[in-house]
Order: sequence, then C-alpha cells, then structure tokens
Amino acid sequence: MGTLWYNGTFFTMNKEGEAAEAVYVENGAIQAIGEKERLEQQYKDHITAKKDVGGAYVYPGFVDSHLHLIGHGERLLRLDLSEVESAAEMKQLLQEKALESKGEEWLFAEGWNENNFSDRKIFHRSELDEIAPGKPMYLSRICRHAALVNSEALKRAGISSATPDPPGGVIVRDLQGEPTGYLLDTATELIKQVIPPVTEEYIRKALTTAVDDLVKVGLVGGHTEDLFYYGGFLRTFKQFRDVIDGKRRKFRAHLLIHHEALAEMEAAGINEREVSPFLELGAVKIFVDGALGGRTALLIDPYTDDPSTSGVAIHPEEELLKLVKLARSKGRPVALHTIGDRALALSLAAIETYPLAAGNGRDRLIHVQVVQDELIEQMKRLPVVLDIQPRFVVSDFPWVMERLGHDRLPHSFAWKSLLERGLHCAGGSDAPIEPVDPLLGIHAAVTRRKAGESHEGYLPEQKLSVFEAVTLFTGGSAYAINKENERGKIAPGFTADFTVLDTNLFTCEPDRIVSAKVVMTVVDDTVMYSSSEDHDAAS
Ligand SMILES: [Zn+2]
Repeated sequence: MGTLWYNGTFFTMNKEGEAAEAVYVENGAIQAIGEKERLEQQYKDHITAKKDVGGAYVYPGFVDSHLHLIGHGERLLRLDLSEVESAAEMKQLLQEKALESKGEEWLFAEGWNENNFSDRKIFHRSELDEIAPGKPMYLSRICRHAALVNSEALKRAGISSATPDPPGGVIVRDLQGEPTGYLLDTATELIKQVIPPVTEEYIRKALTTAVDDLVKVGLVGGHTEDLFYYGGFLRTFKQFRDVIDGKRRKFRAHLLIHHEALAEMEAAGINEREVSPFLELGAVKIFVDGALGGRTALLIDPYTDDPSTSGVAIHPEEELLKLVKLARSKGRPVALHTIGDRALALSLAAIETYPLAAGNGRDRLIHVQVVQDELIEQMKRLPVVLDIQPRFVVSDFPWVMERLGHDRLPHSFAWKSLLERGLHCAGGSDAPIEPVDPLLGIHAAVTRRKAGESHEGYLPEQKLSVFEAVTLFTGGSAYAINKENERGKIAPGFTADFTVLDTNLFTCEPDRIVSAKVVMTVVDDTVMYSSSEDHDAAS
C-alpha cells in the first residue's frame, strides 16, 4: 500500500540544509519523512515496497517553468544548428541535409546563431538558393523570433519587394529593396502559413521524444506552450492526452494556452484546469514583444548598438488590453512574454486595467530581462510570478551588453535583485532555445558563466545561492501554478516527485553542478527514469 524510500539524503527544500534519511509515500503523496527505523516501525503494516536510492541525493522533482515541449522534441528530431560555430560549417550541414531529403520537401533547421560565428554572417537567400536549388528552406534562428528562408520559400509565400512589413514584423531588405530572406517576428508567420501542416503522428513523435528526454535530465514536469503552432489546438492537445496518459508516461505537464488557440478550445467544450494529475490547462499566453537578439525586444530607450530602433510591440496597446480582457472573460490568468522594459510597462498596465479575479491563480511574466526600479515596485503590488531563464545570462552575454549599454545593464537579467525585492521567480530553460537540462540553469544562476570559463561571472552581484537556484526549479515552479502547498518540497502532503542525483549540489564545487548525474527521476512514486536497473528494484 505504501512505499518507503530510503538510503539517501532527502533535501526538504523547506529551508537550507534541512534533510531527512527516508520518506514514506502512499498513493503518490508523502505521508512522513524522518529516520528509516522510525518510519519502518510506524508504518510496518502499510509498507509494501522499499526503494533504496543507493546513498544518492534526493531533491523535490525539478520542473521547468517555461519551455516548448514539442519544439524541444523537434529540435531533437530536426537538423540542429545551435552548436555550429561558423557560417562555413552551417553551409556544410545544410548541404548534407539537402542531399538526404526528397525533391520539393521543405528543409527545416533549428537554432543557428550568427553571434557564434567570428564574422557574424547572416546568410543571404541567394546563398541558400545555391545550397538546395528549388527546395523551400526555413531556418529558425536560436531565439525563434527570426528565421532565414530562401527564394523558393519567399515565392511560395508570395513575398516580394512589394510586400509591406506585417504589423509586429520586419521583412529585412537589401539596398535595392529586395527581401534578403531574413524575417523577423510576425514576418515569419507569412512563411509558416504556406508550410504544409505537420501530421498528428509527427506531433506525437516530437512530444514523446521530448518527454522521454526530459525525465533523463531529471525533470518531473514542465510548463509548456505548444497549442497554437501545429495545425490547431485540438490535434495538439489530443497528443498530450495520449502521450502523458499517467500510465506509460507520468510527467507533470502544465499547458499554457496561446490566445489564438482559445476559440478552438472553447468550441470543443474544453475548459477544465486539471485534466488529470499529469495534465493541466493554465494561463493564456500573449506575446508582448520580441527578443534582444534580433533587437525586437521592446525597450523604453533605443538600442545602444542601433539607436534607430527601440524594438517591436507585437500588438498595438489597445489590442493587448483586449487580449488580457479576453483571458479574464474565461477566468484565466495571463502569461505575458515580456523581455524589454517598455514591454514590461505595457504588460503591467494591462494587468492593472483588467486585474485577475481572486481565486483564478497568478499572472505570469515570462523572461523579464530588462526592468526598471518603478516597474519592480509595480510588480510587487500585483499577484505576478516571473518566469526567468538563468541560462540566458551565459548564452547572451557579452553581446547583450552591446545591445543594452552600461546604464541599463545593472537592471538586466538581475535575478538576485528581483528575489531580494520579494518577487516570486520560477526557473526554466525556454527549450528549445536553451538546453533543457535544469542543472545548466541552476549552474548559470549560481555562477553567471559557463562551466570552465574563468571569469567571475556576468554581473556577479546578481549570483544566486544554490538554495535559491534550486528553489527556482522546485518551489518556484510550483508557486507559479498555485501548487506551492503540494509540489516543490519533500514534506508530508506533497507529491512524491523526486529528482535523484549522485551529487550534493549544496556542497560541491560550483562547476561540478553541471556534471552531476541523474540517478533516478520519480513522478508520482513511480520511477520514470533510472540510470541503472539496480536502483529500481524493490528489496
Ligand atoms: Zn518561450
């Protein structure tokens, strides 16, 4: 009837340094923690299984508070350019890919980043045309707010020198006014509209691949936004229901609902919040701005390295208000993608204009990379949670310094300041943009540099303690969805979701955090991943 987990250091995450040596679980819920002998004595008539974790370190299950599960699966299935370090290497990989795919089929690739190339080269469509003549090509930039396409793709979308920039997007043009093939933000939608919809089988495969990958890196759950991008709400939602069925796959998936998916969801009569213990429908996702990489994050003052722009608002102000109002009419919180300080100001104004009714959860502000003092004060007065991605610091610095300049920098990616001011933060990866491994996020929050780099970290005064960093991915993620009293701690009444590592993150050398090995990932008292069968065996 019950399981005794023992022979480990079970960190409660109630307070720093607090740990137990055993945990007793019934029906997926922790009943008691303490000494093994005492629990054996107390529950001797109830214990039906004993699980030895082999002296490992057990944390409340890590949850990624912002990612795109299907996109992560796609990245694993598609040509991944995120590790490419030169334009020549990118060209070669595309040539190889073009040879293996058939005639008129689209060639997709993910994750190129010119900041990793010494010459920062962004391909012109004519160069892409040479690589695969007549074959449409869509190459998503690492930020997913921009893409490169070739002439065939532009032709299929009917984009020419005469096409105006769509609202919230830019068709980059050369001196003759011809599109170069580089498209920013909503301009990418013009192409996406003519890409044939993916099959349900493809969505399922990408989702399955993603979830199976996440449990391997110790994640028991994720708050994910996917429901608008794969040919409609229903066909996508159906895959979540099938794949995360609570039998073959237990995983805590919390789905954000893109505002454009709401109508289809409602027409289908789906309005619950808790679909199952493993599947929830949460806040309404609305993009307020773009990203710093393509200078589309919306700033109050112009970009330091391009004073001709302050970024892009995805929606005019009145439209943003309407969308927040729409979410409120469904009784749902909003999850606003906001990177620049101007986007944050607009977001907070919209939330104040249409406040969330009590009992409907918490609004989420995703990314919050550039802030201002007054905006921090404003956030403190609102029921908001900040979804931060510590790993962006180590990936985006130092080029982010060029974008923002010295005056703005102290208020950028300033996680410690946000926590010290009493704001609630949750940790995520934004995978597939950053690697999904939560240990990379925790390490980045603690060191603010990549493992192996020798500098003191970018904005070192913003480093978090290990306890704070682990809290982002445990209690922080739970708080974001109002589950702070049932998830994110190892304590009576909490779910038996555990991330089991071979390393004590609190005492190891900071750079050892990234090489910690996942021994086991446990969801709802069930081992969903084990590095070795031995640990899995009940004694
Ligand atoms: Zn995202």
